[in-house]
Amino acid sequence: MNPPATPIDHFLDEQKALACIHCGLCLGSCPTYLETGNENDSPRGRIYLMRAVQDGRLPLGDTAVRHIDLCLGCRACEAACPSGVQYGELLEHTRDHIENHFKRSIFQTFLRRVAIEKVFPFPGRMKLALLPARLIKKLGAEHLLPKFAQEALALVPEKMSAVKLPEFSPANAEPPLTPALSPSDGERVAEGRVRGRVGFISGCVMSVMFGETNANSVKLLNRAGCDVHTPSAQGCCGALHAHSGKLDEARACARHNITVFEKLELDAIIINAAGCGSTLKEYGALLRDDPAWAERGAEFSAKVKDLTEWLAGSTFNIQHSTLNIQHRVTYHDACHLAHPQRITKPPRELVKAVAGANFVELSESDVCCGSAGSYNLTEPEMAERLRRRKIENILKTGSRIVVTTNPGCLLQIQAGLKRAGRDDIEALHIADFLARAGE
Ligand code: SF4
Ligand code: SF4
Repeated sequence: MNPPATPIDHFLDEQKALACIHCGLCLGSCPTYLETGNENDSPRGRIYLMRAVQDGRLPLGDTAVRHIDLCLGCRACEAACPSGVQYGELLEHTRDHIENHFKRSIFQTFLRRVAIEKVFPFPGRMKLALLPARLIKKLGAEHLLPKFAQEALALVPEKMSAVKLPEFSPANAEPPLTPALSPSDGERVAEGRVRGRVGFISGCVMSVMFGETNANSVKLLNRAGCDVHTPSAQGCCGALHAHSGKLDEARACARHNITVFEKLELDAIIINAAGCGSTLKEYGALLRDDPAWAERGAEFSAKVKDLTEWLAGSTFNIQHSTLNIQHRVTYHDACHLAHPQRITKPPRELVKAVAGANFVELSESDVCCGSAGSYNLTEPEMAERLRRRKIENILKTGSRIVVTTNPGCLLQIQAGLKRAGRDDIEALHIADFLARAGE
């Protein structure tokens, strides 16, 4: 028996949904459609399903939710669309509607409402959650866990010493942040001038699992002549909330960060995680219906720059590189940098400046690796299929280093290389790659 129709609730902006002219030009860029060949797993099919639910022609039941859940939110379709369909916004509003009206299984509810919403955005809690993970890995007991937990464990980095896990104590439950102020490297700045007064977003996953990458990002900014401010009061950017259909929670994150950063009167706000950057650049849109915050949100977003965007646009100098690249190097486009932010050239320029003739393009570089925020926990099967596809393409390049710009991609690719028995290939964040070049 079909589930009862949900009362009609206009969660979609009708004009924005109608912008889809059903041309199908987005289909070839959609990773889930590439894998399943099912129209319902394509952008065009999903927009049709969203409109059918909104119009009351389709109940908000398992079928519609299944195809929406399977969407990675990678937004490759937006970049391919000639009609300017704002798919990301349609998806976020549909997911918000689903989370408010659709009853999920106990397991999925726990995963989404507790693990993803109440742990990941809080670095202190995430560190504590990693303690049993370390023990299970040490005992080699991964196989005793359910599939989603095995997936999560596979993503925990091998070099746990670099993670700097705390001992259990409420006193040190908060993450060590980069210094509140890290001054520019005076020797490299012409006439002693500071070239920028920038804020740094230290991130949730980044600050817990990639502390060294954050430190390297700040050093690179200092080398580029910037004073870097990292306020300890900053919080989660809200990306995980927005992508999982919790828009009110995402707005609360946005308001908090705007308040913290606007006091500092910065030239730019730098982020080294593509997924977070995309959400930070959309605070203006997220808060546009709130008269007290719309302008402040737009001003904040206008200042947000990806690390590569800022470095490539500055006088950052990597000609001092002492890194002698002997092997091929390739670059994987993080979806949220390549599609919503349309940033593909600056990171390539930076990688090529170091790798020179050893740089090789990756086939399907901008096809999602399957990480997609918390997707590899909620949709482990499709995440695994896309990870395998990505690793096969990486192996074809013959590269020994894969560079990217997002923590989720890094963990996903590192886990995939390990599963393929290719520990000889390194997956590196671009900040770590560039920092090595400048050592
Ligand atoms: S490319 Fe754009 S207009 Fe064409 S089907 Fe896809 S979403 Fe619709
Ligand atoms: S966001 Fe990505 S997975 Fe979802 S419909 Fe668009 S291209 Fe496909």
